[in-house]
Amino acid sequence: MWPAGVCRCGEPHHHGWRAARDTLRRMVEPRLVELLQELVEIESPTYAPGARAVAARLGEELERLGGDVSILDGGHLFASHPGRGPALLVSGHTDTVWPVGTLETMPFALDGDRAAGPGVYDMKACLVLMVDAIRRAGAERRELRVFLTADEEMGSPTGRTPLEAAADGVAAAFVVEPPGASGNLKTSRKGLGRFTLTIRGRPAHAGTHRDEGVSAIEELAHQILALHALHDEERGTSINVGVVSGGTSENVVAAEAQARVDVRVVRTDDVERIEQALARLEPVDPRVTLEWGGGWTRPPLERSDGAATLVARARSYGRELGLELAEESSGGGSDGNLIGAVGVPVLDGLGARGGGAHAPDEHVDLSSLPVRAELLARLLRDPGL
Ligand SMILES: [Zn+2]
Repeated sequence: MWPAGVCRCGEPHHHGWRAARDTLRRMVEPRLVELLQELVEIESPTYAPGARAVAARLGEELERLGGDVSILDGGHLFASHPGRGPALLVSGHTDTVWPVGTLETMPFALDGDRAAGPGVYDMKACLVLMVDAIRRAGAERRELRVFLTADEEMGSPTGRTPLEAAADGVAAAFVVEPPGASGNLKTSRKGLGRFTLTIRGRPAHAGTHRDEGVSAIEELAHQILALHALHDEERGTSINVGVVSGGTSENVVAAEAQARVDVRVVRTDDVERIEQALARLEPVDPRVTLEWGGGWTRPPLERSDGAATLVARARSYGRELGLELAEESSGGGSDGNLIGAVGVPVLDGLGARGGGAHAPDEHVDLSSLPVRAELLARLLRDPGL
């Protein structure tokens, strides 16, 4: 145990901040680790009852911290905490990408500072961190709203409207999604769309009447190449045909085929540009019809001036705590995209450090919890935001 101001080497010298950080790191309260285990052991894939149970459990914690908590239709949590105005918003989600039953092969596990399990990093440890930050912020805290979406992993289709209502009129929003790999904060995220292309041709016997058929699968092959040609790494536009299907049998010329396409864009301008590019795609075989379905699930989060201010404050609090925080952009979306779209400055990536989101090696670094909770607490107390 090193007292504050004394470095690991035992000498009270210049890098006192490092000692302060190391002291914080050794202070992961067992209560918080227990809460984390409890949350991970409630399996909460989107639309499963577990997502609501996680919201209810966190609601108890927030009530204990003075919050007025309601669980909304769809299982979303909204809490309002009195404090010094104007209000700030903290945003997170209770759902995970892991189906019920995952715990059987991927149980909650602790190994030193590392905790593993489904959803531990994205984002149950981040929710524990959030609770701890609100507690640490104490009486000097700003007025606060907390919104936890129950269907974020599906693009927040039912969470979006109540989230926008929660964001209405707040001075800033903090999203407790996991940070970048080296702990960096996020001020911009790509916008996301999920589109479906349905191709209709004409069926025929593959042996006797091949010429009368119009193959939707042959057309699909052309369209996949045309779609992938729209991918533009430099501009930050990514297009991926991720799922294809079509046809009914080897001996039938395929009457129908489908492609499911993931589209991501950096700039708001690109939203319309890509829509037009998709609509302009012509069938190579004129007897075929193309039909588009699906749409945008999240608008791009572009770095705003407000976000630049937030990140500057966070970096300066970080330095006090021995954290050298940089800023980065993410190719993935979050509820931060939705909040940014209603004109609120957003700082994202304030959650716990770890790795393996959506992957079997998902884990969190518990030693990052106290110091990053303290970082968020200082932001929640900041009278200038
Ligand atoms: Zn997440």
